[in-house]
Amino acid sequence: MDLYKKTPLKIYNSLSKEKELFTPIHEGKVGMYVCGPTVYSNVHLGNVRTFMSFDMVFRYLKYLGYKVRYVRNITDAGHLENDADVGEDRIAKKARLEEIEPMEVVQRYTVDFHEILKKFNNLPPSIEPTATGHIVEQLEIIKDILDKGFAYVVNGSVYFDVLKYNESENYGVLSGRNIEDSIHNTRVLDGQSEKKNPQDFALWKKASPEHIMRWPSPWSDGFPGWHLECTAMSTKYLGENFDIHGGGMDLKFPHHECEIAQSNCANGKAPVNYWMHANMLTLNGQKMAKSTGNNILPGEIFSGENTILNKPFSPSVTRFFMLQAHYRSNLDFSNAALEASEKGYNKLMQGVALLSSLKTSKQTSIDLESWIKSCHDAMNDDFNTPVLIAHLFEAVKHINLINDGNETISASDLVLFTEMVNAFVFDVLGLLDESVNDNSDKLNGTIALLIQLRKEARENKNWALSDQIRDELLALEIQLKDGKEGTTYTIN
Ligand SMILES: [Zn+2]
Repeated sequence: MDLYKKTPLKIYNSLSKEKELFTPIHEGKVGMYVCGPTVYSNVHLGNVRTFMSFDMVFRYLKYLGYKVRYVRNITDAGHLENDADVGEDRIAKKARLEEIEPMEVVQRYTVDFHEILKKFNNLPPSIEPTATGHIVEQLEIIKDILDKGFAYVVNGSVYFDVLKYNESENYGVLSGRNIEDSIHNTRVLDGQSEKKNPQDFALWKKASPEHIMRWPSPWSDGFPGWHLECTAMSTKYLGENFDIHGGGMDLKFPHHECEIAQSNCANGKAPVNYWMHANMLTLNGQKMAKSTGNNILPGEIFSGENTILNKPFSPSVTRFFMLQAHYRSNLDFSNAALEASEKGYNKLMQGVALLSSLKTSKQTSIDLESWIKSCHDAMNDDFNTPVLIAHLFEAVKHINLINDGNETISASDLVLFTEMVNAFVFDVLGLLDESVNDNSDKLNGTIALLIQLRKEARENKNWALSDQIRDELLALEIQLKDGKEGTTYTIN
């Protein structure tokens, strides 16, 4: 336990653009917030990669002995089609197109999101709050920012005054964008916008008459701006200043920049000590997009019903493929890459399976301590999973050499080796041994044995036993059928 005291972890902080030694605010505890999905469509494979990356981070922090509170929200209102606070609410639009209630949209795609993440063996977060469940908290923050003079009201909507904020703080501290440049490069507003400046963002939007998702507020019946929910929920569950905030690279600007500005105004302090961003996933070298057909849903990978892959691939193979790249690197999804990952995954699992049957010796010829250290070093270097996986393949090489009698391991070292391999493969990387779950071979073998015993009973005219085997199998919904070619069966 408390492995974190012995193995210092370094995290690349998007804010400082450097790898920094990780020191949590409260010793032994970590507060982590990750921006969750907007539940208006099936979860995108690129988003799956982001959530899988932070699942790996969550798992490794737990492995190090930290008590982690992992908060990941569900955006079920307020996310407009366009980052410039225009366009329809994404969920409301889907509801209109499908002629269902917005909350039916939310329910359908929240269930889909959970099912897909579970298939990929992602652990559930500690808290999964929703935007609509935290309207009161969001209203409080808006009032606070208004009181402090960093927001203004126009026609029932409230906007954050970015220029005012930038006089004393740096709007661009995370993304590196320069507000002066962006003002210079922005076309003059067409007069339609209520905002003082195009850089301002909505804290509250007045709802149009047809907009269903609305709440009362001092300014209008409306709904909160998208950036506000994460400030409200992270503050509520992790405090005004917490350890880690994660999300996809595409959220750095404007979403996370706005979160920092809101917190600085409302709480008078920067919200996050370590900002982490996961990189994008491309498909056959191109950006994934539904409109061009260069797109694949997670479910289509498992079923094989797609035009991208030659065959189905399991969730664990897909997970292994994703973790073979560092979370901050670009990753390209393709049939060839998945096939290579499947081979690697199978090789790794065969090595793990061999561990239980290795013969032990008096001496250990491999340097176990330095192998364990190299695995920790890899993960402590900003969660370098590809390097960890390379060390796991080294372990497989050792396992095979021990199995062939070319290396030796003592009984106590084998216990430690097995423990460490299992910890890295299953606990930290979160891979599943799919052969363990697939018992069909064992079931088929057992039924074949019973058919053989029944055949022998009939030959010995032991009708009572042969009927008993048939009837008890039938009770288990396994039906035997006697034919000319012998006995076959169906499982209902
Ligand atoms: Zn967010």
